[in-house]
Amino acid sequence: MKNIAVLGSTGSIGTQTLEIVREQGDITVSALAAGSNIALLERQIREFSPKLACVFDEEKAKELRVKAADTATKIVSGMEGLIEVATIPESEILVTAIVGMLGIRPTVAAIRAGKAIALANKETLVTAGHIIMPMAKEHHVPILPVDSEHSAIFQSLQGNEGNRIARILLTASGGPFRGRTKEQLKDIQVEDALKHPNWSMGRKITVDSSTLVNKGLEVMEAKWLFGVKAEQIQVVVHPQSVIHSAVEYEDGAVIAQLGTPDMRLPIQYALYYPERRSLSGKRLNLFELGSLTFEQPDTETFRGLSLAYEAMERGGNMPTIFNAANERAVALFLEHRISWAGITELIEDCMNGVAYRKNPGLEEILETEAAVYAYIDGRRRE
Ligand code: NDP
Repeated sequence: MKNIAVLGSTGSIGTQTLEIVREQGDITVSALAAGSNIALLERQIREFSPKLACVFDEEKAKELRVKAADTATKIVSGMEGLIEVATIPESEILVTAIVGMLGIRPTVAAIRAGKAIALANKETLVTAGHIIMPMAKEHHVPILPVDSEHSAIFQSLQGNEGNRIARILLTASGGPFRGRTKEQLKDIQVEDALKHPNWSMGRKITVDSSTLVNKGLEVMEAKWLFGVKAEQIQVVVHPQSVIHSAVEYEDGAVIAQLGTPDMRLPIQYALYYPERRSLSGKRLNLFELGSLTFEQPDTETFRGLSLAYEAMERGGNMPTIFNAANERAVALFLEHRISWAGITELIEDCMNGVAYRKNPGLEEILETEAAVYAYIDGRRRE
């Protein structure tokens, strides 16, 4: 019997994780955490009977304590609560399915407590990969990728221990605006950006996919997960999202993982690694597909990707500036306060305006996040 804790259990990855728990029937859920959706969290508490649940919002946590008073689940709140969920003694695996840099502290605490990390929260590695990866190694804790591309790379690496990676081919659907010109992207509305052609995901990552910032974050994530240089990662636009990514070895052999776009597969692979289990759902039918196509990414129109490479090259706290600026910019876009094109403009502005730090520790990373938010607030008052 496996035992897990889930940060972000009410979101897209969180609910699909619990679908797997339901389908497989041999995983115990010890702890759950959400931001504020107590209606769904209460249903999850009743179904999975965790020992502990965290609602980040203190007021909502109070409400849930009343609603779930007849259950045995202890309800906690805030960052302390998230850390309690992440380190609950019973669990072996922490699924990090929370959005944003908020995931850093609980992930660090879980690693120190010896938990395997099923990592969806890419922002953790993007900003603190230089701290997280050595820490995981020191504590002999595996970081198991949940992101579909990284899971595909991880799967393509199996059986090749000791063989050198020549290149990683990181595929991208190209998002809903692939092929459009800057001129055609002027009047993009929130609803347009939320329509992903292939994947059904949370709002923030869906917007990130439309700007190609998500692909930039994934390049950074891949760099840390697989110990390669940025220039060894080639982004390949593949609109059908069938090849989830591939690894090219020194002899030129390319090994890829293919499948239908279904996040449950990489989640399940991370939970049961190295075992493969049966999974319900649609199977890949190559005859139905007919052909697969590939393109170079348009980094002129979708500046998010080239800015990500620039952030990686500059290193230090620059990936944090890139990420924090994007988090705030996407929130502003979703509130209709800036335009779609304004997201990458704001990222570039922050990369030029916020103080650079060469080798940031955890505190400096979090200070950089605050500095980015203060910088953006200042710019918006101007
Ligand atoms: P969602 O927006 O669907 O879900 C986010 C989850 O985080 C919700 O459970 C939300 O709770 C919770 N949350 C938000 N704020 C807080 C908080 N302050 N404290 C505790 N919990 C909080 O996101 P996704 O599932 O799409 O994405 C999660 C992560 O996985 C992201 O890092 C994303 O980049 C990554 N990812 C997602 C993929 C996908 O297919 N969705 C694919 C690959 C990676 P509440 O509902 O209460 O707000």
